[in-house]
Amino acid sequence: MSTETRTRTRKTRKRNPRLRPLPMRDGQVEGYVHSIETFGAVDGPGIRFVAFMQGCNMRCKFCHNPDTWKKNVGTPMTSDEILNQALAYKDFWGDKGGITLSGGEILLQIEFATELFTKCKKLGISTCLDTCGQPFTRREPWFSKFNKLLDVTDIVLLDIKHINSEEHKKLTGYPNDNILDLAHYLSDIGQPMWVRQVLIPTITDNDEFLTETSDFVKTLHNVEKFEVLPYHTMGVHKYAEMGVKYRLDGIEPPSDERVQNAQKLLHCADYQGYRNWKPGDSTLENPVS
Ligand code: SF4
Repeated sequence: MSTETRTRTRKTRKRNPRLRPLPMRDGQVEGYVHSIETFGAVDGPGIRFVAFMQGCNMRCKFCHNPDTWKKNVGTPMTSDEILNQALAYKDFWGDKGGITLSGGEILLQIEFATELFTKCKKLGISTCLDTCGQPFTRREPWFSKFNKLLDVTDIVLLDIKHINSEEHKKLTGYPNDNILDLAHYLSDIGQPMWVRQVLIPTITDNDEFLTETSDFVKTLHNVEKFEVLPYHTMGVHKYAEMGVKYRLDGIEPPSDERVQNAQKLLHCADYQGYRNWKPGDSTLENPVS
């Protein structure tokens, strides 16, 4: 998810966390929404209507939206409710914009995402999935569900929190092996993807790790864009509000020089496919789906 880029203010109604949600309403799966952004400009191509979904397994030390962590809370919404809100903004989407599902971690609500994106594709709306990849597994039945979701997904935004699995675990609570496997899988099937690397002084801002990340991303054939997301501290106040200790106290955002250094080591300028990319494009002539 793109929580690294900015913090979000809650715009949706809080529900009582003691109430168990109904999984279905009006024959539709309900998703748990943290907040909505109607004019997202950094969560995928063009201008996008972004639904940030509730729930995440990871506990990234730098997370700027710890209020998205908890599952089964937030505002229950059906795909029709999201679509009806989103369609009010369709005139702003042009030929690249559309709807993004982000989080929290959207893959924890995979049935909801598939239902919404299936409706989007029937209406010709571009779909973008913004994920940290943590739930990814090739085990069934999850893998088939994921492939069904990819069938109706135009582009995936994938964060690589740390290239080294042990360091990834220290940073997020989980190793990264399945996340790197996800990147390989998306490359193999020709699923267009943007990759983002969070740059955190003393943790990921390390020339050796950045070079390793660059070498990994070079093995992928589907990367339309490769971005550096500089660490910032704008969400720190949320930890105090939640009574949760913020674990990166004392770490300052990286300097412009270090951001440029990372962009150079990662060869971000080599990934320009996004400039000409349009919904429906694939990086393979005959993608497997
Ligand atoms: S993946 Fe990390 S940054 Fe994203 S919501 Fe979860 S804890 Fe926060």
